Amino acid sequence: MPAKKAADDVNPNAGKAAADKASGKPAVIGAVTKKATAKKATAKKAAPKKPAPKKAVAKKVAAEKAVTDKAAQKDVVGKPVAGKAAVGKAESRTALVRRARRINRELAEIYPYAHPELDFENPFQLVVATVLSAQTTDLRVNQTTPALFAAYPTPEDLAAADPERVEEILRPTGFFRAKTKSVIGLSKALVEEFGGEVPGRLEDLVKLPGVGRKTAFVVLGNAFGRPGITVDTHFQRLVRRWRWTEQTEPDKIEAAVGALFPKSEWTMLSHHVIFHGRRICHARKPACGACPIAPLCPAYGEGETDPEKARKLLKYEKGGFPGQRLNPPQAYLDAGGRPAPPLGAE
Ligand code: SF4
Repeated sequence: MPAKKAADDVNPNAGKAAADKASGKPAVIGAVTKKATAKKATAKKAAPKKPAPKKAVAKKVAAEKAVTDKAAQKDVVGKPVAGKAAVGKAESRTALVRRARRINRELAEIYPYAHPELDFENPFQLVVATVLSAQTTDLRVNQTTPALFAAYPTPEDLAAADPERVEEILRPTGFFRAKTKSVIGLSKALVEEFGGEVPGRLEDLVKLPGVGRKTAFVVLGNAFGRPGITVDTHFQRLVRRWRWTEQTEPDKIEAAVGALFPKSEWTMLSHHVIFHGRRICHARKPACGACPIAPLCPAYGEGETDPEKARKLLKYEKGGFPGQRLNPPQAYLDAGGRPAPPLGAE
């Protein structure tokens, strides 16, 4: 990302005018709100309004409620983009699609190296690693799988393994008894029903023990090149913050978000969103003040907005800044201009 753009992105206010001009959206958040409030206050002072008759007010409120209820039924379309960003302005379906795709383009610039963070060399290793990643970090799984695959390199080997030995290897990933059962069970199913090969179809993958739609899409997208949306905890949180959907069930989120993007973008979109959730838009303290997509985000302000404090919340991979191919955007640097601290256990 060019240095100027990076600097603008780091400061949401600095990037707002350009971003809004390009997107056709009102300028971002604080500035707009302040201006609008000041204007309103002046207007009020200059021409005090007569109180509207009670009946008329009640009628107006009922009409507004009906419109809101109707919009709510249609998911997010027609709802205000954000309380602060566009007071009272509804976002059309077209505007939502444009904003969603723009966020994805911005994320692609920020995370050009986005990839599945689990280490694997073949579809079997990926499906096993994805099952093991439940309730733990990818880092922890990556520390565990080399020993597992060294001892049991094929589905046949793992299907015939002694569960106690596998449990010992998997202990650091948590829920190791259930995970042992799943990986041995899925290896047996691969051997007995699929000739020892991981199937490349969703309907077959979800039949394997411990494999749900999320795991299946990870495997399809990353081992078979078939587009899929991975709705993990980060994905769910971020798409709701961005008002891409108000659905709460993974299947419905998958369908709603899938409808905003061409199928060919689904897999990389999933990586971008998950990368952003892990590094900047955290569950408890999103680093809004250091977030390059703040001008496009209706939830700006949900986290820390002070740029200095926000930078301290950023999380990075072990070994330093991962995007060495590009100039590091300023958002990735700490106050002293050094790569921000490594991504810790999450
Ligand atoms: S909530 Fe904050 S950190 Fe998350 S995307 Fe929006 S502006 Fe960025």
